[in-house]
Amino acid sequence: MRDKTAVGGRKYATEDIVDAVVVGTGAGGAPIIARLASAGLRVVALEAGQHWNPAVDFATDERAQCKLFWTDERLSAGADPLAFGNNNSGIGVGGSTLHYTAFVPRAQPDDFLLNTEFGVGRDWPLTHAELEPYYEELEVFLGVSGPSSYPWGPPRHTGYPLAPLPLNGPAQLMTRGCDALGIRTSPAANAALSASYFTPGVGWRAACTNRGFCQAGCSTGAKASMDVTFIPVALAAGAELRTESFVTGFEFDRSRRLCGVVYQTARGEARQRCSNVFLCAGAIETPRLLLLNSIANSSGQIGRNFMAHTGLQVWGRFNEDVRPYKGIPGALISEDMHRPVGASFVGGYLLQSIGVMPVTYASQVVRGRGLWGDALTTHMRSYNHTAGINILGECLPSDVNFLELSDETDARGLRKPRVHFTNGENERALTTHAERIMRDIWEAAGAHDVWTYPRSAHIMGTCRMGTDASDAVVDPFGRAFDINNLWVSDNSTFPSALSANPALTIMAIALRTADHFLARAARREA
Ligand SMILES: Cc1cc2nc3c(=O)[nH]c(=O)nc-3n(C[C@H](O)[C@H](O)[C@H](O)COP(=O)(O)OP(=O)(O)OC[C@H]3O[C@@H](n4cnc5c(N)ncnc54)[C@H](O)[C@@H]3O)c2cc1C
Ligand code: SF4
Repeated sequence: MRDKTAVGGRKYATEDIVDAVVVGTGAGGAPIIARLASAGLRVVALEAGQHWNPAVDFATDERAQCKLFWTDERLSAGADPLAFGNNNSGIGVGGSTLHYTAFVPRAQPDDFLLNTEFGVGRDWPLTHAELEPYYEELEVFLGVSGPSSYPWGPPRHTGYPLAPLPLNGPAQLMTRGCDALGIRTSPAANAALSASYFTPGVGWRAACTNRGFCQAGCSTGAKASMDVTFIPVALAAGAELRTESFVTGFEFDRSRRLCGVVYQTARGEARQRCSNVFLCAGAIETPRLLLLNSIANSSGQIGRNFMAHTGLQVWGRFNEDVRPYKGIPGALISEDMHRPVGASFVGGYLLQSIGVMPVTYASQVVRGRGLWGDALTTHMRSYNHTAGINILGECLPSDVNFLELSDETDARGLRKPRVHFTNGENERALTTHAERIMRDIWEAAGAHDVWTYPRSAHIMGTCRMGTDASDAVVDPFGRAFDINNLWVSDNSTFPSALSANPALTIMAIALRTADHFLARAARREA
């Protein structure tokens, strides 16, 4: 484990009025810390978790690596209660990118215009065209490996900086099944390096060794988690990183502007004075903190519109060796179902091949097939012959899906969050469509013992952005309508789910928020 305050960062006194305190160092926080510090601002980042050294602290051991997951209890309610813990969010410098699979497709332009296209759901208060320069910047900065020509979406101005990673066993089998059915596929965009790569401010990062344990943390630094990309830039530019610092409250001046952030450390409570706060704690802890402090909620929207991608998985067993633990797990994509012809639902989904680590797969077999003891052991003997496909599908915002504070308290004495989630008619229709397609693909590829694991993935919504202060928490740039110097940057601001994995879009929005903030500061706007 590294020293508490990472090498390279500055140290500020808690009485110093720093320009910005950033709460959380994940996909929404780290780009902001780096951008603001690089512009010369005094930035303190507060992170609940530790700062790991991947080469020393990350083992090829799923159990040991549970330390990367946020495991404080979250209560689950609704007809389709969500699994938390390792299914959802991370803790530590880098946040959930420490364990993400680094599958980074861009969202498509119509993803942002769901209501215009279908008359339901929400349009975003920003466009794909506004995010495109940030997508381009991020793909170069992170070192994304991807195909030279991508079959879906608008023509790209720039290619991916690196060639795609090799297709692993599940990806090759999915290609075979899709080819037989006339479904187009492409090597996926992955934020993992297919060759060693130099980034100014970061240095050289080594190429992916195809170890396949991305969800247990990448020990080589090939995967572009925030701790090996934006955080080194931020520290070199003078940001201070305070780890094991759990934010619990905020302080206000007489004009109701935020002037400090209160946090707990092993040594007790501390407070950092500041001129601005960027809340980037993720779609559960961000609304939880705001609700605990009863702030920024004149719209009554905090906690509402909780969304999770429909993430159904279909598994099959093959006669040939697959070895699903090897290679980048999400190596192949198809966006042919982005807007399926004749579909009875709104939006669409992407298809993704999936590799899987053994303990993760065994736990899914227990939950999905109810196997245990000898039956589980027998099933797991065929683990090396197993391959999966999953979808990432639209999830409409709904009044029945929300986060609230429960009456139970955690070890800190703070009320635990309770999340209500029930799939609506649209999610169910989309899932039925996708299950048929995935089963057809596996059948065409020669699978037997095909089975389905119902699941939702990624947490979004709860502090949505919009143009109307009466039905959104933050404006299109992430600034809270109620508090001038409070900004939110994480997956909580998503107005709709997008039929694409969220991390690249979260980072793009974070950079856009930072640039907007800096432009305002340059014009001396309050
Ligand atoms: C297993 C798995 C695989 C995934 N794979 C992909 C993928 O391939 N592609 C993709 O696009 N997305 C993927 N995701 C989703 C993606 O990782 C997340 O959507 C994204 O990283 C969320 O970013 P965020 O900034 O909103 O939150 P986070 O990254 O979760 O960051 C929040 C940070 O805030 C800190 N924090 C929270 N509360 C406090 C507090 N009170 N005080 C101080 N710090 C606090 C946390 O410790 C954390 O570091 C995956 C998710 C999982 C679970
Ligand atoms: S497969 Fe590549 S990116 Fe994933 S953990 Fe292994 S080396 Fe890192």
